[in-house]
Amino acid sequence: MKKIGLLGGTSWHSSLDYYQLLNQKIAARVGGLHSADLVLRSVNFATFHQLQEQGAWDEIANAYSKDAIAMKSMGVEALVICANTMHQVAAEVERQSQLPVLHIATALQRSVKQIKPNETATLGVLGTEYTMTLPFYREALAQYGVAMLVPVAEQRQRIHQIIFSELVAGVVTAESRDFYLQQIKQLAEQGADAVVLGCTEIGMLVQQTMTDIPLIDSLQSHVDYIVDFCLE
Ligand code: GLU
Repeated sequence: MKKIGLLGGTSWHSSLDYYQLLNQKIAARVGGLHSADLVLRSVNFATFHQLQEQGAWDEIANAYSKDAIAMKSMGVEALVICANTMHQVAAEVERQSQLPVLHIATALQRSVKQIKPNETATLGVLGTEYTMTLPFYREALAQYGVAMLVPVAEQRQRIHQIIFSELVAGVVTAESRDFYLQQIKQLAEQGADAVVLGCTEIGMLVQQTMTDIPLIDSLQSHVDYIVDFCLE
């Protein structure tokens, strides 16, 4: 089994899900007492969120790379960034650490293929303003021929605000759930083949049982990809 390094803490709620799901899925696949072989680094999100707001992505990349290099010395073969937004620094962390990042867009592409095999696809994406509007996410999906659709500015602002004032603090409300379900419906009406829960905390708020529109939970999809990598 390959050893992986998790760069987590953004937020710890979803890092906990990564840790639990990876272990559960590896145990289910391999059996016996097997569990994930990993190193988990969990940062103080307050510090890193401030850097995000300042647009200090270089600083984030340098901090992540330093941790990645330490993980490499512990025998880690690949890195997992336990968030969508922080993939903004994925390429730079790969460059500095000389370790591959198991990219979340690769995971999404694998999930899309199950919904639309052999066809081009358009994904609606709900996530932080960074994920929805900075080029990194759109470009990563475009590499796989997947187009991306996001809500308009006013709705994006509320989506972003719900993530940072509620979800990353572990707060789930019925009002925010209704709002997210409305956004999912609108993206499907605009032509999305499926909607990506493109922030690793959205799964706490919305699940597939709540809508007929196909959803791809970025965390679940990422974990499936990581498990395949570890066991391949
Ligand atoms: N976990 C989130 C994501 O998947 C948001 C927190 C962050 O800004 O990193 O994008």
